[in-house]
Amino acid sequence: MIKVAKFGGSSVAGPEQFHRVKAIVEADPSRRIVVASAAGKRSGDDHKLTDLLYLCHAHITYGVSCDEIFGTIRQRFVEIRDALGLSLDIERELDALARRLDRDMSVDELVSRGEYFTSRLLAEYLGFAFVDAADCVFFGFDGQIDKEKTYAAISDALEAHGRILIPGFYGRLPTGKIKVMTRGGSDISGALAAAAVRADVYENWTDVSGILMADPKIVKDPAPIAKITYAELQELAFAGASVLHEDSILPVKERGIALNIRNTNRPEDAGTLIVDEAEDEARREEERFITGIAGRRNFSILTVRKRNMNTSASLRQALEIFDRYHAAVEHITLGLDSFALVTATAALGDSIYDVIADIQKSVRPDDVSVQDGIALVATVGRKMSSRPGTSGRLFHALGKAGINIRTIAQGADELAIVVGVENADFENAIRVLYERFAG
Ligand code: ASP
Repeated sequence: MIKVAKFGGSSVAGPEQFHRVKAIVEADPSRRIVVASAAGKRSGDDHKLTDLLYLCHAHITYGVSCDEIFGTIRQRFVEIRDALGLSLDIERELDALARRLDRDMSVDELVSRGEYFTSRLLAEYLGFAFVDAADCVFFGFDGQIDKEKTYAAISDALEAHGRILIPGFYGRLPTGKIKVMTRGGSDISGALAAAAVRADVYENWTDVSGILMADPKIVKDPAPIAKITYAELQELAFAGASVLHEDSILPVKERGIALNIRNTNRPEDAGTLIVDEAEDEARREEERFITGIAGRRNFSILTVRKRNMNTSASLRQALEIFDRYHAAVEHITLGLDSFALVTATAALGDSIYDVIADIQKSVRPDDVSVQDGIALVATVGRKMSSRPGTSGRLFHALGKAGINIRTIAQGADELAIVVGVENADFENAIRVLYERFAG
């Protein structure tokens, strides 16, 4: 069995956190690949090393001295090294880096040093072989990850060393230069490592015990999601939940590897397990009826009415117009003599008037109306499918709370039911649904 354990910035923020990481890694010998972020915040008012490094580069670009910021970065590393009694001569390496800090140093190379040095220290502390991401994570000329080359290099490194530590967030371009990923990219590095060795599980260690069933700013103490399928996660993310970035899921999803979100500060919590659809079916009965609720405010409903209209032709024309203005249509509802398109209000902006004018010209409707201030709320759950009465229960709960439903959409896979309500009812709708189905 092989587990890949990725530790986020707050999990490696200081010596105390290094202790926790070591205890976790040593508790399970199958954790043979560790991927680390750069040291993050130790407290609310602290700074992430990555932010400090970006700041350093900005100073250099404007010809302002960055000595003070670089000194802070240096101190963080030295403190960790000394508190853990490690032998890495980090001053020498940082001095060499400081000498190269001039206007020509690439921002990517500079900010990647956060992950690089944090990982050097952690590798020594854990007794893992350090494998530089510049030697095992490769980008193609198009800036995309060259998966084949990356997977081969990572599995060779594991084979050669047995237990390896790879810094997250960066890799190497075909030109030999270092390139960083988007912010939070260590999640992607971890997923690549897990996919490379076809790990049994990809553990993503962070500072929360998994994904919550609803936004804690709206619902008090929402329960964590014990298990969720990749498809449900996608629905929740689409509906507005801030969960893992799609890029960081794809490599493991493609290979059917389970992803487990865990809390470094509470390793006894099981966290959230994200699995493939197929694996999940057998255990259906033990789990909650719904998996999660998410939503967003500020959508507009554009309704087109025309007596005896050829709906499909008119709808096609309207969709083409939306496309021309680069506005994504979230939902469509169809009536006999009308249809309605739901879109993010900001996606159209002032173009809404042009869109209406174009629709009037091509569809020649009896009437076009727009209603702003709509919130979409998605109730997501694999168990809702093929259970008669689910939507009835949902609508009943909202109706009883006096919440008027403006639109309804349910995908054919019955994974999510999305309702459009007034912006003002947004939070209440989420609370009502949570209480009805999960509370
Ligand atoms: N250190 C990088 C960031 O702060 C990457 C990561 O933590 O995943 O965005």
